[in-house]
Amino acid sequence: MRHINMNKALNNLQKVIDNGLCTRCGSCVGLSEGAIKFTDKTGKYLPQLHENVDQVLAEKILESCSGEYVDFPGLERFLFEGKGHHHPYLGTYRGLYIGFSKNDTLRRKAGSAGVITTTLTWLMNKGLVDGAVVLGMSEEEPWMNKPFIATTPEEVIKAAQSKYTISSVNDILPEIIKFNGSLAYVGLPCQVHSIRKMQAAGFPEVSNIKYIIAPFCGLNLHFSSVISFLRSHGEKNYKDIKDIRFRHGEWPGNMRVEMNNGKVFQLPKFHANYLIPFHMMKRCMACIDASNEFTDISVGDAWAPVYEERGKGFSFVVARSQKGAGILDCMLDENEIDLKTIEVDQAVKMHSHMYDNKKRGAFIRMRRLKYAPDYNLPFPNNITFKRKVFETTLNLVFLTLRTKPAIRIFEMLPQKFVGTVFNNFKVFWKKITFSVKRKDL
Ligand SMILES: Cc1cc2nc3c(=O)[nH]c(=O)nc-3n(C[C@H](O)[C@H](O)[C@H](O)COP(=O)(O)OP(=O)(O)OC[C@H]3O[C@@H](n4cnc5c(N)ncnc54)[C@H](O)[C@@H]3O)c2cc1C
Repeated sequence: MRHINMNKALNNLQKVIDNGLCTRCGSCVGLSEGAIKFTDKTGKYLPQLHENVDQVLAEKILESCSGEYVDFPGLERFLFEGKGHHHPYLGTYRGLYIGFSKNDTLRRKAGSAGVITTTLTWLMNKGLVDGAVVLGMSEEEPWMNKPFIATTPEEVIKAAQSKYTISSVNDILPEIIKFNGSLAYVGLPCQVHSIRKMQAAGFPEVSNIKYIIAPFCGLNLHFSSVISFLRSHGEKNYKDIKDIRFRHGEWPGNMRVEMNNGKVFQLPKFHANYLIPFHMMKRCMACIDASNEFTDISVGDAWAPVYEERGKGFSFVVARSQKGAGILDCMLDENEIDLKTIEVDQAVKMHSHMYDNKKRGAFIRMRRLKYAPDYNLPFPNNITFKRKVFETTLNLVFLTLRTKPAIRIFEMLPQKFVGTVFNNFKVFWKKITFSVKRKDL
């Protein structure tokens, strides 16, 4: 806890940070005119507040903060005005699809099926936007991700791919403000929450963001995941990384790290997921938004055996706003993407584990926190005693695995073995918890 002479709004921001509610969306850094900075980006990655931020600016920053308060019903009304269908897990939607980019190279290069990147390049080529806020990798520090405003389709394509380490996209708000023209924006749900909060409050800083086309998000990882991945291969210095990808190659892809000394370490994505319990951001455990509910178009992986077996990559695409649905219709007509409508039950089933985790698990976990985020939503009425017991067991496993000794022990084991065991265990775990998780979903 820091002891500096802070005004009330700054104190509240500090409370958000001290109580583990910061989402690292980056808005406080972006709005603070240089007074707030992230420290220790390869460690805890937290904003360092400064007493020089005056009360008015601090209040504005607090209003944009996605850590403590996100009014879900309020944002729903602001964006969709009660139009479209509403589902408690999917949010508002006008269309649900399985889709992929018709650009085969891009489809293979992208995180799942290139729908986000294709949509951004289409918007640019049509002159509907002049730039897109995307997340690429830093050229100076190739181990770190870096948000930037792409102004050409080539730059957008360069930023394709999911990056599974903390990304504070909104710390480029000063560039967004200065940008002369309209923008598309890509960000994780917590980052989008902050942008939408600012738009709802009428902040001029984000008025040029015209479209939000963004990914689903189960959770994100600390950079310690990369450090640990390297340690398992006997590499001690992450600064020797030349290139890192999280979904390299044929879908669902591989986590792949190339070092300056020419060595390449690679692990299938499902196996690399073993890093999750050790390194996931704690704040993600209190997030209830899996499918990025306040976008124009949201895109996730089409997790279902029928697609997983076919390789290449399929996405689950949700058209939310009228303009989002219109864009998808036009791109389909112009043969830019392939889209097949799916039923709502199929959509929920495809991500049932994630919805159970976000729409039930997160509420149970929040009840156990001293200081929890407020989404202006009631506690769900479909949570059984069995589901609570299940959550307690899972949390105990996570608590154990997050300890330093556990991390070190697993780093000493062969990574392929750990990855395979983790993956097999996950399949088994999904099977035995299937009925508890699917019940009443
Ligand atoms: C941290 C994270 C967790 C995810 N969890 C799930 C999940 O549990 N289930 C699921 O179905 N899908 C999840 N996704 C989404 C999935 O990985 C794909 O991003 C999504 O299906 C879109 O694929 P695409 O091929 O259309 O995207 P692409 O065409 O590859 O475009 C991806 C865009 O996302 C942006 N981007 C990438 N990483 C980040 C990041 N960390 N922060 C902000 N912007 C970013 C890039 O700028 C790029 O423009 C997650 C994505 C991320 C980044």
